[in-house]
Amino acid sequence: MNLIVLTAPSGAGKTTIARRLMAEVGGLQFSVSATTRDPRPAERHGVDYFFLSPDAFRERLAAGDFLEHEEVYPGRFYGTLRQEVERIAQREDVRAVVLDIDVKGAINVKRLYGDAARTLFIAPPSLTALADRLHSRGTETEAQVAMRLERAKMEMSYAHEFDATVVNDELEAAVAETVAQVEAFLEQRGA
Ligand code: 5GP
Repeated sequence: MNLIVLTAPSGAGKTTIARRLMAEVGGLQFSVSATTRDPRPAERHGVDYFFLSPDAFRERLAAGDFLEHEEVYPGRFYGTLRQEVERIAQREDVRAVVLDIDVKGAINVKRLYGDAARTLFIAPPSLTALADRLHSRGTETEAQVAMRLERAKMEMSYAHEFDATVVNDELEAAVAETVAQVEAFLEQRGA
């Protein structure tokens, strides 16, 4: 099994980079995580996340269904479903499973999978740039933006634990660097 783990503070441009990565490198497939947070407008169950009630999440946790899980925001749980990752990894057309998870989840996956996992940290050029992006996105309240910025500071302090950091200053350069990292990993893994 080959795992590519993408981690970034909220608003660092990870979603755009991930989308471009999937389009430019063949054989990559996203694993859909489970979460207890509410869907945003346009998000769909089973596509963006499996949206679970706190009770349902707890039940699946007790059943050992998560490969990793974290309380990413107070009272909001997110987890990678073991079954989802295994199902995707078994497909013949899949060279690597892509996880979009938080710093602690990424570090745990690296600990569990070692060389079979490549962890990439996507960093914003600065915290100011990140604040601007979060405000212009307009999907969060001011309080939520403040919480995400606090969390971003903490997350950036873990960047050195990742296999590589990609600074998203200029989008095309960040995409090219992400693609190069992933291709090097796939080649190394013979995938
Ligand atoms: P959002 O609520 O903006 O979709 O995601 C918030 C954070 O949760 C992001 O940093 C995202 O990477 C992280 N996240 C999403 N799914 C998982 C997961 O399965 N496990 C962990 N540990 N973090 C996740």
